[in-house]
Amino acid sequence: MQIDGLPPLREVIASHGLSARKSMGQNFLLDLNLTARIARLAGDLAGSDVLEIGPGPGGLTRGLLAEGARKVLAIEKDARCLPALAEIAAAYPGRLQVIEGDALEIDPLAHLTPPIKVAANLPYNVGTELLVRWLTPKVWPPFWDSLTLMFQREVAERIVAKPGSKAYGRLALLAQWRAEPKIVMDLPPEVFTPAPKVHSAVVHLAALPEPRYPADPAVLNRVVAAAFNQRRKMLRAALRGLHPQIEAILAEVGIAPTARAEEIGLEGFCALARRLAAG
Ligand code: SAM
Repeated sequence: MQIDGLPPLREVIASHGLSARKSMGQNFLLDLNLTARIARLAGDLAGSDVLEIGPGPGGLTRGLLAEGARKVLAIEKDARCLPALAEIAAAYPGRLQVIEGDALEIDPLAHLTPPIKVAANLPYNVGTELLVRWLTPKVWPPFWDSLTLMFQREVAERIVAKPGSKAYGRLALLAQWRAEPKIVMDLPPEVFTPAPKVHSAVVHLAALPEPRYPADPAVLNRVVAAAFNQRRKMLRAALRGLHPQIEAILAEVGIAPTARAEEIGLEGFCALARRLAAG
């Protein structure tokens, strides 16, 4: 099925010499039906700007545009992809802006108008780093309404994990504190070119109007990082570096000092972050 009048992605890749580079974390999606489905998982795009990170040859970009995004702002680090993206921009006049650069260094907000959604199929390390940044701004609600992001399946499970499970940790707490994360699609390795070693999943995170419990994002991030860095230790040991009287403080907020991080829910960590922020 054609979603636009542009050439198939295999042709685009061949004509622009876009052989995938491991150093850039490149595993491309070449099935435009699939990228259109992922774009639909981002919700109703009409009337929204979409920030896309890592468009590559533009499969998801074309899906987002075909599904009616008002504007797509795409940030791509690999300059080789720019001519292919320019052809997409020409087919959708005024609706695709491409910025060449590292998404970790670029502030896209000057180029976007709310409402804004984010969609991306990114290398694992960049994806988790950006996700944590998008979840921990000082002020809430954030610039985005929703994030629709591809991750390794194992990382997706960490984002939606519940207390008591092996996958539960910092990503689960930060994501579930201020957003509603759901795994909305599973993808086997063979839908990517080249095929990665692991399964992937799309996670949709809808921003909550306000966090589930009050806490300072920087303090909460510090507390959960320390707690799960030594997840097998009791909290009084894992959190020793955060406060000289950590044992008394844990007891004061209703957490057993002998408990381990994975037993404590969001409410407990937020109470602890508030108490620690108070000095
Ligand atoms: N979105 C395309 C798709 O689904 O076929 C490409 C996905 S590929 C997994 C990841 C893309 O992110 C590549 O195009 C790569 O060049 C780009 N990329 C990697 N690191 C980046 C960074 N720090 N900032 C922006 N783009 C980056």
